[in-house]
Order: sequence, then structure tokens, then C-alpha cells
Amino acid sequence: MNLYDSNRILDLTKKINYTLTENLKEADCYILNTCHIREKATEKVYHDIGRVKKAFRNKLKPIVIVVGCVAQAEGEEIKKRNNAVDLILGPQNFQNLASALQKTRTKNIYTDFLCDDKFDSLPPSSTPEVSKLITVQEGCDKFCSFCVVPYTRGSEYSRKVENIFQEAQHLVSQGAKELTLLGQNVSSFKSNIFEKGEKVDVGLASLCNIISKLDGLERIRYLTSHPKDIDDLLINEHFENEKMMPFLHLPIQSGSDKILKKMNRNHTQKDYVELIKKIRNKIRNIAFSSDFIVGYPGESEKNFEETLELIEKVNFASSYSFKYSPRPGTQSSIKHIDIVDEKTSTLRLKKIQSVLNTQQKEFNESFLSKNVKVLFTTFGKKKDQYVGRTPHLQPVHVTSNENIIGRTFDVKLENLTSFSFHGKILN
Ligand code: SAH
Ligand code: SF4
Repeated sequence: MNLYDSNRILDLTKKINYTLTENLKEADCYILNTCHIREKATEKVYHDIGRVKKAFRNKLKPIVIVVGCVAQAEGEEIKKRNNAVDLILGPQNFQNLASALQKTRTKNIYTDFLCDDKFDSLPPSSTPEVSKLITVQEGCDKFCSFCVVPYTRGSEYSRKVENIFQEAQHLVSQGAKELTLLGQNVSSFKSNIFEKGEKVDVGLASLCNIISKLDGLERIRYLTSHPKDIDDLLINEHFENEKMMPFLHLPIQSGSDKILKKMNRNHTQKDYVELIKKIRNKIRNIAFSSDFIVGYPGESEKNFEETLELIEKVNFASSYSFKYSPRPGTQSSIKHIDIVDEKTSTLRLKKIQSVLNTQQKEFNESFLSKNVKVLFTTFGKKKDQYVGRTPHLQPVHVTSNENIIGRTFDVKLENLTSFSFHGKILN
């Protein structure tokens, strides 16, 4: 979502005649879009402010703006820690960037929750790409005990269907062939439309269906779902709609029921495994990825083993795993008991990543020599090289004399290096 927000900020700044530079020293305005999810990400922001300060040491002081979840969570504190910062805008406030720039003398912290305002006042995207992100939902009401999202992005908000459709239409008219619908809790998307004067509820399944009607659009993905919110309508949409890609990011965080309860996830390991089975029974080729947290307070060796067992049961195509990081204001950090020591967490992270990497490797190897549809999105690093993605999001490199960006081809997957394929176009 930060990537999506950064692109929208770029659209906004273009409108007030700023241009993007790759040269750090040349800039006269620095905008840092920030993440507060783990301590490391937050500390990186202060480190980056330091880098920016170094870059402009010998010239007139440029404007430095901090946007995003660190701005929301730390507000005034950022200015206290670093006086080079001129403006602080939370994630629901960056639409005010242009006017805020003119008012830096009178007001420099903007952290209200203004979702409606934000989406209504953003200019259309000015960065055409084959694969585009589009925020459809923001915030979260689930309050998992480790997570800052409900405090930084605010409570759940779903955008109006008409507005999403208009944005999707614009992106497709600019050449987008794939859209990824974004939300911290995208599967709890809830909006409505009027049909023949009647108000009709629209959940994620219907939203995907509505968007899939756009001519030229080939692929739909969505991110991130919560296991509690996946309903039969969504599973059915995957089954019936060929634009729905057979790949689902479905974080579980832990395989231990004791830890899941402490995390306030509201489901058990069994619920999750049964959901996976149900989806697999209906959609044979679907693959799953997940997020895991190791070293959550109170996680015993046995609880960690339960996570490894869960991983063996499900067999993931890819996954992200993190060491637990206590975040200010969250339930787990307030209680601050049964802390797992750093050494144990590090060992567990290594172990889980090794198992997940092996599963990803085996998943990828099962595609070798197969013919797969690849949508080409970007140039590769080498001459005449192009990079695309399979329906399961695996990167594929091919060579072509012709520019094939934006086109889909059957590709024979010939080699696998680390986590990406080299292939040959067949048609
Ligand atoms: N809405 C998504 C997750 C969003 S946050 C969901 O419900 O799963 C993205 C990921 O960051 C989470 O899935 C979790 O694995 C990780 N994460 C969040 N807070 C964390 C923390 N305090 N410490 C370590 N990892 C964390
Ligand atoms: Fe955070 Fe996701 Fe839990 Fe919401 S559902 S609190 S975003 S981890």
C-alpha cells in the first residue's frame, strides 16, 4: 500500500510542477513515505532523514516531508528528534500536500483520519504500467495484539464502488492488464451500489466481478486477506472468473492455537487448514502464501514446532516471516510479559525460513518444463530481455527482439535460478 500511496503522492506533486529526480543531492524537496509495522522499519526513517541531511549539507535547505504511518504514530516526536523535518502528514492526509507546503509556517503536522477526503481529492494516476495497484479498502478493526495498523491507518474504510471502478477504468485505458486490489484487510471490503433503485451490498467477490468486466483487463489479484473473512462468494468467484489469479496471500502468523488466541486472531490452526482444504477442493491449481511471526511473547518451543507442523500440512508457494517486534500502544507491548529472548527468536526465524524456502523451491521446480501463461510487465537487465509473471506470481525472464511489454504469451519454463525462471516464448 505504501507503494500505491507513493505513486499517488508522485501524481500530486507532478500537478504542482515538481519532477522526480534519481539524484539525491539535486532534490529540493524530499518526501519520505514511511512504515511503522516493525521497529526496524521505523528506525530506518530516522536513518534516511540523516542521509537526506548529508545530501544537502552545502546548499540551501530543501523541504523535508515525512508521510505515512511513522508520521501518524510519532508526529511531534519526529521533529523533536530531527529539526530538518518541515512537514508531517499521516497516511490519510497526504492529499493536503500541496496546500500544506504553502502553510509550513503556521501548521506542520497533519494526522486526522480523512479517508473520504483523501480519495476524492487525488488526481488520476499519471504513471502507466502493465501491473497496477489500487487501494479499495484501508484500516482495520481487528486489533491483533501485535499490530499497529488499526492505530496508524485508522478503522476500516471501504471506498465507493463507482470511484474504484473509475480508477480501474483509467488504469486499464493507460495500458494496465493486471490490477491488484489493496487493503489491510481487503477481504472485509464492504460497500454498495444502486441497481434499479435498490441498494445492493458489494463485498470483495462482487467488486472483483464488477472490475473484471473491463475490456482489456486480464488479471485480478487482491492483498491482504484475513482467514476469517474469506467467504464462499469469493471462492466461487475464483472458480468462475478466469481473470481471478490462482494465488492467495493468506497470513496465519502462527500454527499454535495458544499463540493465535493471545494474538487475538480469532481462528485456530484447524479453521485455517480446513479453509485451505475447502479452497483447494474447489480450485485445483490455487497456491497459497502466508506471513509468520516467530518469538511472540509466550511462544514455547512446542508452540513453535506447531507452526512448523502447520507449514508442513499446508505447503506454501512462498511466505514472509518476521521476528516479533513490540510496537508502541499495541496490547502485546503493553503487557510485555513472557518475552522470548533474541537468540531464540533468531534461531526460530532461521529455521522457519529454511523450511519455507525449501517449500518455495519445490513449488517452483514442479513447474519446470511446463508451458505457462506469462504476462510481461518490464524490461530485464540484459539486452532484449523481458520480465513477466506467471499466474502464481513467479518471475520469468525471456529474450525477444520485439517489445513484448503488456502482452501475454505461453512460455516454456526451462531453467530456475533462485526464485525466478528463464523461459522460451512458444506462440
Ligand atoms: N492485515 C494483514 C497483515 C498486515 S501487516 C493480516 O492480517 O495478516 C503485515 C505483516 O507484518 C503481518 O502479517 C505480520 O506477519 C507482520 N507484523 C505485523 N506486526 C508485527 C510485529 N509487531 N512484529 C513482527 N511482525 C509484525
Ligand atoms: Fe494488523 Fe492484519 Fe490484524 Fe488488522 S488483521 S490488526 S492489519 S495483522
